[in-house]
Amino acid sequence: MNDENFYQKGLTREEWDYPFPSDDHHRSGIRFARRVRLPRMAGLATMFFPIAGVLVTQPVAGGWWLLLVGWAFVWPHLAWQLASRSADPRSNEFYNLKADAIIAGIWIGLMGVNAFPTAALLMMTSMNMMGAGGLRLFTAGTLLTTLAALATLQMASIPPLFVSSALQGWLTLPVFIFYPVLFAWVSYQTAIRLAEHKRRLELMSTRDGMTGVFNRRHWEDLLRNEFDSCRRHHRDATMLLIDIDHFKTINDTWGHDIGDEAIIAITHQLQLTLRGSDIIGRFGGDEFAVIMSNTAADSAIAAMSRVHERLAQLSLPGAPLVKLCISVGVAPLTPPMGHYREWLKAADVALYKAKNAGRNRTEVAA
Ligand code: GH3
Ligand code: MG
Repeated sequence: MNDENFYQKGLTREEWDYPFPSDDHHRSGIRFARRVRLPRMAGLATMFFPIAGVLVTQPVAGGWWLLLVGWAFVWPHLAWQLASRSADPRSNEFYNLKADAIIAGIWIGLMGVNAFPTAALLMMTSMNMMGAGGLRLFTAGTLLTTLAALATLQMASIPPLFVSSALQGWLTLPVFIFYPVLFAWVSYQTAIRLAEHKRRLELMSTRDGMTGVFNRRHWEDLLRNEFDSCRRHHRDATMLLIDIDHFKTINDTWGHDIGDEAIIAITHQLQLTLRGSDIIGRFGGDEFAVIMSNTAADSAIAAMSRVHERLAQLSLPGAPLVKLCISVGVAPLTPPMGHYREWLKAADVALYKAKNAGRNRTEVAA
């Protein structure tokens, strides 16, 4: 893909200016706590009804009802506030998850291990623990829930019954249906965000930040592939090295901003003139390189004479008097070349020849 395709994909310069914040750890911790917030809010609110459905059948003190309301409707907000205001939101959220596991154990004990609400609570805490912290947090959470349940059974002297009424089953049903769907949705959103993050990182590692064309390292990788492929399939390919003439003078006379504008304008002219399959790279500074697959040297020269013509007509908006000229070295791939670096060297020699012959021209490797 060349850069015309790249721009057509609607990518903007801001995308490769994507910053790596210094407090990345803090930000990712906040994102983590935010991801947990919605499932916790929705999950605990829906769990209120099956637990209440069990507690009404038991002689429990009013304080437990207060705790149930606080846990189901206030705790999710409190947990978010604690995590988001903490210096280390991720660690704080892990404490919150462990608190979730302990409180779930308390309800399980208080309900006398009533079958359906217990299963729903275990499902919810297990999914949260495994999703947030893998096997380790899952194991810790399961242990905490079990211990809290046993301690509550012991202290409240409640006999475990392991059964549910039909009503308690119906009250729990929404949790079984709703919670896994919500959890899967949150996981899906996270996967999408990660894929986008990966795409940005790939962009940053393969593209030149100023022009958006391939950077030197990636361009050389593509060159190596093209070299191997052309040798294997006996295909034509031509390489171009392009260097702006007297670029230092442009910088010195008009300033670096105009110099940058010139580099971007030349990139644009290359993209407009060359084919979509041509691979354009910036070598750094004022030097560019192009790989033209399935192209003989004379077609490459014809393409470059169109670029020379376009540049002769071009005036930079910031400095209309600047005349932009380029020197080009052309090197077709030839059978004696045993390594892609020899190909690169031939183009470099041709570029040197163009510079020595007076610049603003295209020369072909001997
Ligand atoms: P020649 O015709 O022989 O190529 O002469 P030149 O003045 O163009 O010399 P050279 O190619 O060596 O100059 C490259 C200059 O490009 C040197 C450096 O100051 C400038 N440069 C490198 N990167 C950038 C950039 O990103 N922006 C700007 N404005 N200038 C850059
Ligand atoms: Mg130059």
